[in-house]
Amino acid sequence: MPEKILVLAEHRSGKVKGISWEAIGFGQQLASQLSREMIVVLAGHKVEPLAEEIAQRCGQPVLVASHEHCADYTPEAYCVVLSQIMEQQSPFLLLMGHTYQAIDFAPKLATMLGRGFIPNCVDYNWDGSQLTFIRQVFNGKLNVQVGFKGAAPYLVSLQQGAFNGYEVQAQSNPKQVRLDVSLSEQVLKRKILEVIQAAQGRVDLSQADIIVAGGRGLANKEKFQIILDLAQALGAGVGASRPVTDGGWLPKEHQIGSSGQTVAPKLYIACGISGAIQHLVGMSNAGCIVAINKDPNAPIFSIADYGIVGDVFKIVPVLTELAKEIRR
Ligand SMILES: Cc1cc2nc3c(=O)[nH]c(=O)nc-3n(C[C@H](O)[C@H](O)[C@H](O)COP(=O)(O)OP(=O)(O)OC[C@H]3O[C@@H](n4cnc5c(N)ncnc54)[C@H](O)[C@@H]3O)c2cc1C
Repeated sequence: MPEKILVLAEHRSGKVKGISWEAIGFGQQLASQLSREMIVVLAGHKVEPLAEEIAQRCGQPVLVASHEHCADYTPEAYCVVLSQIMEQQSPFLLLMGHTYQAIDFAPKLATMLGRGFIPNCVDYNWDGSQLTFIRQVFNGKLNVQVGFKGAAPYLVSLQQGAFNGYEVQAQSNPKQVRLDVSLSEQVLKRKILEVIQAAQGRVDLSQADIIVAGGRGLANKEKFQIILDLAQALGAGVGASRPVTDGGWLPKEHQIGSSGQTVAPKLYIACGISGAIQHLVGMSNAGCIVAINKDPNAPIFSIADYGIVGDVFKIVPVLTELAKEIRR
């Protein structure tokens, strides 16, 4: 029976992505529950220092597939390299974060291997004999429990923030294992010419500890300024519901929800947001949710840890002043 659980560590600019640490933490928990061995997989070029960092932090073996054709991510190279690793290691499961990269290559990899892929999972269930995963469908209105058919290995991607409760535990077996992978240039169907960074100076909402988000209750672009002021006073990222970005009050990248970003900050302050399901699926994994809304029956209160029933134009400026005072 295949014993290993592999966890793919995605990285950019020499750093492991936060979602991959979530996957590693969850992989450790699952491996211990199922009495399996967990191994981290790292693909790239000259990534040995990063492998060392991962091995030291989690104390797990790290398989390093280093190849010059993997210096920049391409789905073709990743699929070839990962399929070779899967064949060499014969794992039970390959876990990864549900990132743009995973969406890009994982279906192709699953097809190459002839194996099942359950994407964007938010939870799991182990009944002692069968492992299943939970994923959301119909814009988060329904949860479905999905199991695998056929033989392992299985592929699973994890929704950002859904597994952030599983902290990486330091184990006692840090080591790097270099893998030989063969990758000819003919495999590559594209060449990365330049990586263009998104505009600098903005908070990356997926990494923000605090997010202050505003909705249609803010009335218009000018009045939305009170949200920006509170965010600045708290050193927070700025989020928004869809009417705000549709209306051009803020750029689209600030939108949280099913057609925007999924976030999991420690604190999410929702101001003048009703709590439609399309918004909730993007932020319900926040550690602590504070909702401010003048309607006591607004659905946002059903998932809020703290609720303030009242007018955002009276409450938010007071919070901003308090935050400034505390910071002084
Ligand atoms: C396919 C699809 C995808 C979608 N994707 C997304 C998505 O990614 N993200 C998203 O957010 N939405 C999305 N939506 C839209 C979603 O259905 C809701 O329409 C939207 O989230 C509502 O935004 P809102 O809460 O800001 O506005 P509203 O629902 O209009 O709520 C405004 C709230 O503000 C309160 N309010 C008004 N004035 C004040 C005041 N002065 N003080 C305090 N409270 C006040 C009101 O009581 C109300 O609860 C999507 C919809 C579809 C169909």
